[in-house]
Amino acid sequence: MNNFFYRLQSAAARLMYGRNGVDQLGWALLALYLLLRAAGGLIRVPALRAGFGLLSFAAVVLALWRVFSRDLAKRRAENARFLRRWYPVRTLFRDARARRADRAHKYVKCSCGAWCRVPRGVGKVELMCPRCGEKRIVKT
Ligand SMILES: [Zn+2]
Repeated sequence: MNNFFYRLQSAAARLMYGRNGVDQLGWALLALYLLLRAAGGLIRVPALRAGFGLLSFAAVVLALWRVFSRDLAKRRAENARFLRRWYPVRTLFRDARARRADRAHKYVKCSCGAWCRVPRGVGKVELMCPRCGEKRIVKT
């Protein structure tokens, strides 16, 4: 039995040798597939539902095609382009989660776009934005 699994494993390794495999763009396409499937499940209009089904199918086909692709240079360039767009978005999400998790501070967004942090429970304070210097009164 062990031998069987060993052979299965080495067969898989041979199959994947020199191929792109699953990169971050691959995971993103898979997530897109699941999202489109879930969205399609909620839609009552048959034509629209079919459209979502087709798009989700296209996403999974593209994902699989990229996994088995042998043109590593092109696939890596695609993945890099994807990451350049994705990382700033991910940072926004991570920062928002960190602000929510921080119960000790209140976060105030300034008109210049900067986030200002004030300790909670100190009453009314005057806050000066460290980026643009704008002052405002904040209730903590
Ligand atoms: Zn500011």
